[in-house]
Amino acid sequence: MIPSLIDSLADITSHRDRDEVDRAIVAMLFSHIRPRRVVLYRLSPDAGDGLVESRGVRLCAVADASGARALAEDAHSDVQGWPTVGSREPWRECAQRGDVVHFLGDEGEAGPRNSVFPVLVDQELIGLLEIEGGGRCMTLRPDDVRLVQAVLRILRNHLRVLDYCERDTLTGLRNRRTFETMFAKRQGFRRRAGDPKAGMRAHWVGIVDVDRFKAINDSFGHLFGDEVLLLVARRMQETFRQSESLFRFGGEEFLVILDDADESGAMTAFERFRTAIERHRFPQIEQVTVSIGFTRIDSHDIPASAIDRADSALYFAKENGRNRALAYEALLREGLLARKAVQAAELELF
Ligand code: GH3
Ligand code: MG
Ligand code: MG
Repeated sequence: MIPSLIDSLADITSHRDRDEVDRAIVAMLFSHIRPRRVVLYRLSPDAGDGLVESRGVRLCAVADASGARALAEDAHSDVQGWPTVGSREPWRECAQRGDVVHFLGDEGEAGPRNSVFPVLVDQELIGLLEIEGGGRCMTLRPDDVRLVQAVLRILRNHLRVLDYCERDTLTGLRNRRTFETMFAKRQGFRRRAGDPKAGMRAHWVGIVDVDRFKAINDSFGHLFGDEVLLLVARRMQETFRQSESLFRFGGEEFLVILDDADESGAMTAFERFRTAIERHRFPQIEQVTVSIGFTRIDSHDIPASAIDRADSALYFAKENGRNRALAYEALLREGLLARKAVQAAELELF
């Protein structure tokens, strides 16, 4: 028991990819407890109302007698369709108490018992782990409960380390490396899914660059410059709300991924942010502005090819007045930019 347990723990912590971590966790618990099923759910972020009941619940990994599998995030990105924590009494109770809840299944008193555990990271509820009784385990023994709780603590520690590596320390936004990993993963998923509604459900990437930031540093000092970057990041989180799609690209540059928008919808979103910064009263300097270049993400894009197009729109904005948000596609149509000569498919050959 002990060596195999340690093997499984080593397996869990060897993964950098969250889906893989999730899969390893449910696989490990299933093989040691042997219930009917182990299911890991993740919760959608707090909607800002602080109500745990209204948060969406997404199934992300399952283990049963047929094996363990993770369900990639993009397989069900439509948050609207998720059940909420409040839709099931044991979930609600578990979330509110922050502790394990045991409950009867469909068969009532005669049947096996289920248990649901909270997955907490830094006091925040990020998921639920459910063990459905059956098989060799009709009801969890106290030792099993302790095993699950210990494994969830290891998960918590590991997620904290992953989170630290994925984020920029100044702003707390995700970093450039995370952008590249996430982008590649999403593209792989879209290619496999065939993207049937490619025309309707476009995704966009924008680069935000603070205007004349060097002058801010030079006049007020580097620490003050850092404060401006932090405030820009905050406005960004407020404006776009989906903080998982915001990144600090480096220096005074940020990246935003927008999902499911047409060109005018993307323009509206980027303009809203541009004006939010323009209107924000920063301490001492009063006004700071940003320029933005954005482009539609093609199914064959790699991070560099999409960034390259967004960057040429950004460059155009910088050359033509700053404090502007411009779409690469619109600049092409208007003949203001020449199409990028190197296509992604060619880039991938090198
Ligand atoms: P433009 O409007 O053309 O974008 O001009 P700019 O001055 O913003 O652009 P430039 O690229 O010349 O300067 C960017 C400056 O950002 C230079 C660099 O010292 C500063 N910078 C990069 N990273 C950081 C950081 O983490 N903190 C601070 N305070 N400054 C940074
Ligand atoms: Mg720059
Ligand atoms: Mg700049």
